[in-house]
Amino acid sequence: MASDTTSTVALPPIPALDALPPMDVAARIDRLRATFDGASCDALLVTDLVNIRYLSGFTGSAALLLVTDDEVLFVTDGRYAEQSAEQLDAAGVVARIEVTGTEQRERLAAAVAAAGAGRIGLEAEDVSWAQQRRYAADWFPDLGLVPTTGLVEGLRIVKDDGEVARIEAAAIIADHALATVRPRLAEHPTEADFGLELDTTMRRLGASGPSFETIVGSGPNGAKPHARPSSRRIADGDLVVIDFGAIVDGYCSDMTRTVVVGEVDDVQRRMVDVVTDAQQAGVEAVRAGVASKDVDAACREVIEDAGWGDAFIHGTGHGVGLLIHEAPRVARTADATLAAGQIVTVEPGVYLPEHGGVRVEDTLLVTEQGSRVLTHTAKER
Ligand code: ZN
Ligand code: ZN
Repeated sequence: MASDTTSTVALPPIPALDALPPMDVAARIDRLRATFDGASCDALLVTDLVNIRYLSGFTGSAALLLVTDDEVLFVTDGRYAEQSAEQLDAAGVVARIEVTGTEQRERLAAAVAAAGAGRIGLEAEDVSWAQQRRYAADWFPDLGLVPTTGLVEGLRIVKDDGEVARIEAAAIIADHALATVRPRLAEHPTEADFGLELDTTMRRLGASGPSFETIVGSGPNGAKPHARPSSRRIADGDLVVIDFGAIVDGYCSDMTRTVVVGEVDDVQRRMVDVVTDAQQAGVEAVRAGVASKDVDAACREVIEDAGWGDAFIHGTGHGVGLLIHEAPRVARTADATLAAGQIVTVEPGVYLPEHGGVRVEDTLLVTEQGSRVLTHTAKER
């Protein structure tokens, strides 16, 4: 297809970030409690700060959250006394907040003892070996410690309306930022300068920051899927892979567009067409009840048919939320089944060192009928 057929879909306006629908943070604690039996624990000591944020609204860098059957104990240090009280209150979370120095362990042990909890779950993916040994020997010597995996993450995988609204707002900010800075490509900036402008523009439009280190890979650098922006000057004849996202109220967006600068050759043109078709096939495969590996297969089939199966060297996508990469994985080896309310990316790519790289990525909300694409920037053809 010709290079001038890029459709100009109007972008939706950036929503008012101070009037996004609320999230039901307080209800998450009871949903967590409902997982205790299956995990063979009576209480959970939440140590992962992202999980603590999800359960309490707290955004600081030091906290422990103990959830028992009938109590929530939030432990932090003096720096966060005021902030934690404000944030838990704003989230509607009822908890006993203990501000401690070094006596965390006594407070927690007393709370566990008072709750009569015999088996305390730890977050096995977050607790280091050394920490586990301290918990067992010093903190909770009389309790059974149970390794748990994915209890809070299992709740996080399906987003409520407030979370979807934040991710969508982040996606729209990213769309507008790219539309704003994209004309600069004609001036052949360095990758680093272009990435910096994109990041600055996202902040100016209301994002609290980029959701990960922005990728700008031009020419040969685009053939490295996660190229860091370099001092290379973008030139005519380049494919430029731009992979980036914004954060709104802690929630991430993720998108990639590959922009054609100047005239490119037939192989590069075909790469753009094939990857765009593959990405479209992947988007069309997304629906509640579908195995995520089938979405990967839908993308991969188009690229394999074009003879570039070996050049699609990564999985098709991933969940997005408080983290830029979270469950579910969308890949050949994934065993997830998509469910309504999940947010996933679809991002196939083809990387050929002599020609550069092409990747196209949207963030999607999974629905019963299919999906709602939260990324609105038109695709290059
Ligand atoms: Zn991305
Ligand atoms: Zn991604």
